[in-house]
Amino acid sequence: MSIEIRNINKFYGAAQALFDVSLSIRKGEFVTLLGPSGSGKTTLLKIIAGFEPVSSGSITMAGGDVTALPPEKRNFGLVFQGYALFPHMSVYDNIAYPLKVRRLARCEIGERVNAMLDLVQLGRFAKRRPSELSGGQQQRVALARALVFRPDLLLLDEPMSALDKKLRVDLQEELREIHRSLGTTFINVTHDQEEAMHMSDRIAVMNHGRIEQYDTSFDLYRRPRSRFVADFIGKSNIFSGSIFRQGEVCVFRSERIEIPLMEPLAAQGDAMIMIRPEDASIETAPPSDRRIHLPARVQHSTYSGDRVFYTLTLERGGSFIVYGRASSGIHADGEPVYATFMAEDCVVLGTAE
Ligand code: ADP
Ligand code: MG
Repeated sequence: MSIEIRNINKFYGAAQALFDVSLSIRKGEFVTLLGPSGSGKTTLLKIIAGFEPVSSGSITMAGGDVTALPPEKRNFGLVFQGYALFPHMSVYDNIAYPLKVRRLARCEIGERVNAMLDLVQLGRFAKRRPSELSGGQQQRVALARALVFRPDLLLLDEPMSALDKKLRVDLQEELREIHRSLGTTFINVTHDQEEAMHMSDRIAVMNHGRIEQYDTSFDLYRRPRSRFVADFIGKSNIFSGSIFRQGEVCVFRSERIEIPLMEPLAAQGDAMIMIRPEDASIETAPPSDRRIHLPARVQHSTYSGDRVFYTLTLERGGSFIVYGRASSGIHADGEPVYATFMAEDCVVLGTAE
């Protein structure tokens, strides 16, 4: 089911929780709403479900306006953190419940429940009570119950946040697999950027009730449009300064750095640029090629087997993070080095805040 969210504002009393939110979701897409706590993710999900009315704006699903439709007319499944399964019912009966409510024939119910049990790999546990399952297994029962009636849309509100890291990663894989096999539209809410990056076709990054950027994982990481997105997704070095034209090219200049920009059309004026730590390297002598090099000292480093993560103090002030290869040894704290990188790996973030 495709979904069009247009210009939604949401007030709780006098407090505004959503500001002019628009989002376009394709049929069968896996979209994640990603943002810190309080950014409006759950509010937006509840509005999509019909549990909360909008203050203004509209929602269409599969081309039809649903803005005023109650939840039971919107045909979605829902899973959230600690979703209470019926404790007195078996796994089988929990999953069968939505079908019984919809008065399907017993044999049809049996077929569908068994297919769902296979899908979430819980066939062996059909007769157990929820209390006899692990947290991850319970969440898979909740998932099966949310999908068994073949909704057009599955809504997930931090379904994995109560699980430990290993279980979470397993369930992420499984969810992605299930999404692929069903082709249902999924909208997932999380504050975990890694989870969002692993699973989603597109991610809407939310901040203070607004969508900061809506893009693929790749574009969010490589081409963040704001400082908030650059900071929230991965690690980055950010310099504030300004861009101006110098003959044929544009140059970014701050107190600490000057970088010729490859895009001749870069907007002039105050701006920030970002360089990811994996696009930089650490050298003991200035490089002979055209790499930008900033004199620095090692402040500290953390060794993680495959690489070393350095925090440097730049000679002109400020710090700089960079990954180094662990095979060539580890630079000592206090050692003078150069942080080096290519101008074309710098990303302009737009106007300074
Ligand atoms: P998230 O899910 O991203 O953590 P929420 O959508 O739950 O964020 O909340 C967004 C903002 O709206 C927060 O400031 C929160 O305090 C407020 N809020 C959420 N639900 C209500 C409510 N029922 N009544 C009043 N304020 C609410
Ligand atoms: Mg929430």
